[in-house]
Amino acid sequence: MSLSILKNLLVIELSLILLGYGEEIRVCIWKGKNPEGIVGKYKKILGNTVYLKKKNNTYFLISKIDIEKYVCGVVGKEMSPDWPFEALKAQSVCSRTIAYLKKIENSENFYDVENSIYHQVYGKCDNKRVWKAVSETKGEVLLYKGKIVPVFYHACCGGKTTSYLSVWGNFDFPWLKPVEDPFCKDSPYIKWKRVFSKRKISEILGKDIKKMEILKRDSSGRAQTLKFILKNGETLTISSQDFRMKLYSSTNRILFSNTDILPSTFFWTKDNGEEIIFYGKGYGHGVGMCQWGARKMAEKGYDYRKILKHFFPLLKIGKISKKEVYGDYSEFCACKNR
Ligand SMILES: [Zn+2]
Repeated sequence: MSLSILKNLLVIELSLILLGYGEEIRVCIWKGKNPEGIVGKYKKILGNTVYLKKKNNTYFLISKIDIEKYVCGVVGKEMSPDWPFEALKAQSVCSRTIAYLKKIENSENFYDVENSIYHQVYGKCDNKRVWKAVSETKGEVLLYKGKIVPVFYHACCGGKTTSYLSVWGNFDFPWLKPVEDPFCKDSPYIKWKRVFSKRKISEILGKDIKKMEILKRDSSGRAQTLKFILKNGETLTISSQDFRMKLYSSTNRILFSNTDILPSTFFWTKDNGEEIIFYGKGYGHGVGMCQWGARKMAEKGYDYRKILKHFFPLLKIGKISKKEVYGDYSEFCACKNR
């Protein structure tokens, strides 16, 4: 979730929004300058739910669909449909919570969510198992003191999740704090190694670097702040999340197998002169539910409620009703401590 969206939330008074059943969500599935053939192409996949909007010379293809169908389409993309059923149910509740939150945030805009890794990836709801998991949790969302709040998930935490504050810095949400996770230790993402030449890092940062230090670790043990000592004697301090995102932006491929990215900020480093070697754990930002942890918990017999309780001890599962309205986040603003 972007900083600007969260900031906007502080000023939008949304307490009168009613959340009910039969809700629809507007998903932006494509945007560009030339929409020729696009509507027809997507109508074949998504039926008559799609329509085109134009704003500032850009076309937006939007699909307006039932929110439960949308959640099904997201769960099938964000988690493998053959994963344990209770993990799919836990994912359904997380994805539905995010969907409703986006809907509230964007009520004044002409679409609610984007089909992207920055929101959630969405595909057609065409898997019976996933649909069953969504149906069995119909209308259920995660609530903090009765309100829908931002929740997150990621592929593998590497043994401990981290706080929202330590990754994004602007809010200190009590429900997004580090949690020990002994369950994901058999994940294929648990351990990794990446080697970057100092030349490559210099290119990405636009500065000639000599050395790198981990200046600060967060309470989960992740590298939080990095200090680069430059060849000209100056220093550059950057958050490891920003560094990770810079590496990602330089390739635009976030797959774990991509050797040009850092899968997480949970790393230790070694300097061999020409290169910096990163030894790390986990995959993703590390906030909220660890999907591999959820998978292993489900395999061990935990149900989705217990899985969600493990990763979100302060949140309760509730049904969407007219009572669950949205407040603002000003009480959690980290700006107060700066
Ligand atoms: Zn984990």
